[in-house]
Amino acid sequence: MTDLEYLIHHSPLCDTHEHLRTEKQYVEQGPDVAQGVFSHYIRDDLRTAGLSEEDLKRLDDASNPDLEARLAPVLRVWPHCRNTGYGEAVSYLALEFLGVEEITVRALIEAAPQWNALRAPGQRLRILREVAGLDHVQIDDFSAVRRPDPDDAGGFFRYDLSWCAMACGQIDPAALHKATDVEVRDLESLRRAMAEVFLRCGPHAVAVKTQHAYMRTLNWSRRTDEQAAAALGRVLGHEADEQDRLCLGDWCLGRGVELATEHGLPIKIHTGHYAGNGRMRLSWIDPGGLCELLIEYPRARFVLMHTAYPYGEKLVSMAKHFPNVWVDFCWAWSIDPAASSGLARRLIHAVPANKVFVFGGDTFWPTMAAAFGWQARRWFAVSLAGQVREGELTESAAMGVARRWMCENQQIFFSLSPRSRAGDHEVL
Ligand SMILES: [Zn+2]
Repeated sequence: MTDLEYLIHHSPLCDTHEHLRTEKQYVEQGPDVAQGVFSHYIRDDLRTAGLSEEDLKRLDDASNPDLEARLAPVLRVWPHCRNTGYGEAVSYLALEFLGVEEITVRALIEAAPQWNALRAPGQRLRILREVAGLDHVQIDDFSAVRRPDPDDAGGFFRYDLSWCAMACGQIDPAALHKATDVEVRDLESLRRAMAEVFLRCGPHAVAVKTQHAYMRTLNWSRRTDEQAAAALGRVLGHEADEQDRLCLGDWCLGRGVELATEHGLPIKIHTGHYAGNGRMRLSWIDPGGLCELLIEYPRARFVLMHTAYPYGEKLVSMAKHFPNVWVDFCWAWSIDPAASSGLARRLIHAVPANKVFVFGGDTFWPTMAAAFGWQARRWFAVSLAGQVREGELTESAAMGVARRWMCENQQIFFSLSPRSRAGDHEVL
């Protein structure tokens, strides 16, 4: 192993994006071995390869003791998916946590007790911190109301403040009243409620996050108060159409960006590829639709998530041009490891080194987050080592990039204190 590879595999890695379930949910309702090995994104590839919803439902029926019946249909399709990024992460998970080299029904049945031990109290934190070597984890639990987390493990777990419903123009007066004591009747009271959300919840958040690209186009334009007030009236009267929601969503996103900036919080925006199957409109997820927003708010700090895949080339141009844009590889290594590897190379030679975050797993359970972490380390190491071999970078320059992208940039950007945990975790 070269010094560069050692550094990438052994240094703490900041995890800027997960949807982790709580310790209680993991211990009490977490996945069994069949659900856990084939959890989350691999199911998208399995469906694309031909697995039916009925077979996935059967896999998920943990009350059925017949593991063979649950796993057999999945394992018939699995060989088609084992080389994809999602499939590779599944293989890492099975090998590193269960010692399973070849995933078979028999191997998983035998590994079930080992799997169950991974769901004991305290394992969630141990897996993430000690086994995966993560510096800290930023969680989007889809919540628009943030309270301090009594179980944040000394700042290891950080949380995003969700602004997704707002950016979709979905206003829930009852929820806003409960969270802020403000009754939303018109634009001015909505503005007050938003300010109150930030006053109460901003101090407990590490960033503002929105994945509205799943529900609407990323295209943003400035909306006047007059336009937004008319749209809000129709939203509250349950007679809004799509244009009303886009108008109000744009207005609310603008206010959210202003408030986030006032409170020193960055804004993370989902760009690019969808999780799931059969519903993606490429025109909605194009990061170019955000340019008006980036121009409108030069003092805000925008994190464009998931490398905007497959719009990586546009993202390089945007990150190069806009001082208020940062690039986040969260989830990207598993979507398309080869494209991410190529994008890393392009970003190194086109965009300043302080503008990139290299990892986020974007998943629900610690075992899968750890597997995505190992995968990111491996492909990042392959990408940088290749550049050193080709003479595009010296090894010491590549090590400088690795340190910045893996941890230093995140610590500065999110105002975190360094944990200096290098070398004290088990690694792949
Ligand atoms: Zn996510």
